[in-house]
Amino acid sequence: MFDYIMTDEQLKLRNEARDFVKWVPREMILDMDAEKIHFPKEFLKEAGKRNLLGIRLPEQYGGRGLKWVDDCIVAEEIGVASYSLACLWGVGADIVCEAIVEFGNEELKQEIVVPLLKGDVYAAECLTEPRGGSDFFGATTIAKKDGSDWIITGQKRFIVGAEGADWFMVYAVTNPEGQPHERLTCFMVPRTKGVETKYIYGLMGVRGGGAGRLILNEVRVPERYALNGINGGFDVFVKNMIPERLGTAAMTIGSVRPAIEIATRYTSMRKAFGQPIANFEAVGFKVADSVMLLDAMRSLVYSTALAIDSGKVHPGRIRRMVSESKKFVTESAWTIANNCMQVMGGIGYTNVYPIERIVRDIRLSMIWVGTNEIMDLIIQNEWYKEYFKVISKENIRDVEQDAPGADQIEEKVYE
Ligand SMILES: Cc1cc2nc3c(=O)[nH]c(=O)nc-3n(C[C@H](O)[C@H](O)[C@H](O)COP(=O)(O)OP(=O)(O)OC[C@H]3O[C@@H](n4cnc5c(N)ncnc54)[C@H](O)[C@@H]3O)c2cc1C
Repeated sequence: MFDYIMTDEQLKLRNEARDFVKWVPREMILDMDAEKIHFPKEFLKEAGKRNLLGIRLPEQYGGRGLKWVDDCIVAEEIGVASYSLACLWGVGADIVCEAIVEFGNEELKQEIVVPLLKGDVYAAECLTEPRGGSDFFGATTIAKKDGSDWIITGQKRFIVGAEGADWFMVYAVTNPEGQPHERLTCFMVPRTKGVETKYIYGLMGVRGGGAGRLILNEVRVPERYALNGINGGFDVFVKNMIPERLGTAAMTIGSVRPAIEIATRYTSMRKAFGQPIANFEAVGFKVADSVMLLDAMRSLVYSTALAIDSGKVHPGRIRRMVSESKKFVTESAWTIANNCMQVMGGIGYTNVYPIERIVRDIRLSMIWVGTNEIMDLIIQNEWYKEYFKVISKENIRDVEQDAPGADQIEEKVYE
């Protein structure tokens, strides 16, 4: 985030996050990428010890009680450590805990949020099923009532942190005949009888973060574990779109930022044809384009965070801005990572520099928490609604009338 707009408290918070990122042992990052580590519990433990989990969550549950802007400042810095660590940092504390704080009962807050923000336990978010992730409302994991409990059966896949999770936030069908927004319930499922996780994916990047398959075989949970009540999953899903997608945008900025810094140093020192390669426009302009994108990514994420924090912006517009942030940042990060690899020539493609890992890691950002095609759908949908309900009614000049032929009504054919 831009330092010149941060308050003194925000600069202090950013520096705390930077200190934590410096604490992360190099071996942890390398061993996760080499899959010698499957779930870095000590990373979460240390984050909890430093009170760097749950930046926006109430202090009474162990969070910092701060705003979205502060959360994005920290998320960007955590992203620097590695994308895989940032995913784990965000999923448990930012996504699952926010849902529990917003929609869960006090018992669940004490049982899950308090220990999770200390780094003692971890909770995974489980939406995607083998039959499809984008078509969320088509979920087939089912929960059936049995006395005062619910029995859940089904499968979820690609679940970050499944390997080390103590709790799973699972969407299951409880009202098969209902409309899409009335079909699902969001249950908190403990690692108990009938819960199995499998660490089976050969991932291109984002390794060592425990991403796995979750199998639920007649798992019994009490009704009080349902967030927002039975058939109330839709509201939880909608609310979670913000931490999923704005959080992803913020941490992606941090994960790609080191690539620009490495490429800047390298191109200033590396010589060809008797001069530093940064002097060649083909090289220097790629770095310049990358810095421009970095600033543009931060601008969009910052103004979106500010819009949410203000409490004054319509939820539809927030959804559009959050989706724009996710899409723009993740596509820009991909461009940046490739630019940085390109200007380093052959050595950029080796593991002498971490750019090859950053390229592999960053690629996920366009796919997870809703693909960028799904972001397009939301942006399109919200923009058209906003235009006709709000913008078209504003008292502003109608520039359509400023064309010389504007009065040729017979030429304005729409059907
Ligand atoms: C490493 C990793 C970690 C992940 N972590 C989690 C996690 O912690 N929790 C979790 O629940 N999920 C997680 N996911 C799953 C991820 O969110 C999904 O993979 C993603 O939402 C896409 O779902 P899918 O893979 O089923 O693809 P599909 O839904 O089958 O989509 C395939 C393609 O079709 C396109 N498409 C589908 N529908 C439409 C449409 N209506 N319009 C236009 N295009 C469309 C998609 O954009 C995509 O390009 C993770 C995935 C990976 C790889």
